[in-house]
Amino acid sequence: MTSYAIETPPIVGLPIAGSDALFPVRRVYCIGRNYAAHAIEMGHDPDREPPFFFQKNPNNLDPSGDFPYPPHSSDVHHEVEVAVMLKSGGTNIPLEEAESHIFGYALSLDMTRRDLQGAQKKMGRPWEIGKAFERSAPIGPIHPVASTGLLNAGAIALRVNGEVRQEGDLNQMIWKVPEMISYLSEYFELAPGDVIQSGTPAGVGPVQRGDVMEMSADGLGSVTINVI
Ligand code: MN
Repeated sequence: MTSYAIETPPIVGLPIAGSDALFPVRRVYCIGRNYAAHAIEMGHDPDREPPFFFQKNPNNLDPSGDFPYPPHSSDVHHEVEVAVMLKSGGTNIPLEEAESHIFGYALSLDMTRRDLQGAQKKMGRPWEIGKAFERSAPIGPIHPVASTGLLNAGAIALRVNGEVRQEGDLNQMIWKVPEMISYLSEYFELAPGDVIQSGTPAGVGPVQRGDVMEMSADGLGSVTINVI
């Protein structure tokens, strides 16, 4: 039997709607600027350039319903996104097979220390300090594709304290979910447990302690996250 020299880190397990089993997380990929209106609001060209990805850590995903305001930032932004969970993977996955690897979907947030991310961008440095901090990805229950069907269109929104801040439609993604899966699989080996955050529509902005964020999307219901 294998023994480990130190205490083993826990597997990150996310709740699945209608099941007692958890979804084990292996990796988290996040696409940047995947809705034209959001690319424009961030000062970029919305043309279909090759996609780019960054990563969060598996244990940044947090189903607790609370988002602790992180240290070293005074400009923490919400980015509502649909997260796509994979049940299988591989390399060089053809576009037409990509959707067969989807386990399900969840509402999620790509919380961002925008001031720190902006400083890194200016210096041409990686984004982790702005993106991959503790509990930076609040997430709702996973809805298996068997119950939702493929989610390629439908409203997505984020309200803060009841006021609509972000609104879009999943059909506005520049790079569609199957394209993201196929593209990622050319550069990485995808595997069961991988999660892809599929990008945020326009309207990103700051939150403060005490704010209540409500994510919603057609087919995924709504999920409330408290900023504490
Ligand atoms: Mn994002």
